[in-house]
Amino acid sequence: MSDDRFRALVLEDDPDAAEFLRIALERYGGMDVDVAGEADAALRLLRSAPYDVLVSDIQLPGRSGLEIIPDVRATDPTLPIMIVTAYGTVNHAVQALREAADEFLVKPVTASRVVERATDLAQRARRERQATRQRVLAVGAHPDDVEIGVGATLAAHAASGDELVILTLSGGAVGGIAEARHEEALAAAGVVGARLVHLDFPDTHLDPADGLITAIEDVVADVVPDRVYTHSAHDRHQDHRAVNSAVQIAARRVPSLWSFQSPSATVAFAPNRFVDVDGFVETKLRMLAAYVSQAHREYMQPDVVRATARYWARFSPAREVEPLETVRASETVGHGSAVRARPAVDGQDSGAPEAPEGVDALAPDRGSGAAAS
Ligand SMILES: [Zn+2]
Repeated sequence: MSDDRFRALVLEDDPDAAEFLRIALERYGGMDVDVAGEADAALRLLRSAPYDVLVSDIQLPGRSGLEIIPDVRATDPTLPIMIVTAYGTVNHAVQALREAADEFLVKPVTASRVVERATDLAQRARRERQATRQRVLAVGAHPDDVEIGVGATLAAHAASGDELVILTLSGGAVGGIAEARHEEALAAAGVVGARLVHLDFPDTHLDPADGLITAIEDVVADVVPDRVYTHSAHDRHQDHRAVNSAVQIAARRVPSLWSFQSPSATVAFAPNRFVDVDGFVETKLRMLAAYVSQAHREYMQPDVVRATARYWARFSPAREVEPLETVRASETVGHGSAVRARPAVDGQDSGAPEAPEGVDALAPDRGSGAAAS
């Protein structure tokens, strides 16, 4: 299955050397290989899809292999970096590069040696990622809601190899033709490799008591997410508030839940988490560009999207930020054996009985002590 194949990125400006590495990794290593001729192109690729190993030259146009390592590490801390170079002589820069990279091969080098080392690094990175891989569920009322709210955050998750599912609850027939919007939603999800679950609740009439909670519960049970992103309660749009309310109940056992900003968020939207999405806003814009039928809307304009990300950076050391309200953030301290923070369920102690399933949880005065409020 192509999903199991390793993905290698070759950063090499010399066409013959690049071709040698590509053929070696593809033919003998069974890897999917992309080639970039300079650092910025390589960083763009790393931000758009998860790779298992970066194979890089030292001498590159613009920035050297050594200079881009911090950017590569910031984009994907788990990505192994393998240098293949003719510069084996010991000078300062080469020595620094030997220490910063995960592997350092000096030419001449055989194809089998390149494949052996790249495969070993990729396997180690995969194992490490599997151990720390997050399952992320983003829930929106309409096509494009999730992308506007957390598109760049999802792109950052994708670059880290996390598993992404987008759940969109209505076809969006009020804002356009539902079939067209579904195709657009599929294309947008495809940009970050997310799986799209697209349901058909009636646009502008979403109602937690009318099947919404159960539908979200089914997806939560299927995905078993570590974290969920959804609409804020501080939103003018009744569908967005309905989804927020339904998700709070349906995702009550998910360790972490955050709310994102929509164009219809009110001034009461008060984020307290600022996600560093440096370098991922362009991927967000590619997701939004998939929504051709919505391109006329003011909030879809690239300058608005970029400016919003820059604005929220005032609360963060990052340059570009997506803001989130924390509904619940659970964490494990140390190795987790002694202290394990468990989520309080709707303000109860974690030892208290679970809130009842389904719509009853919405009605606090129906007599159930565990009902959500
Ligand atoms: Zn919406």
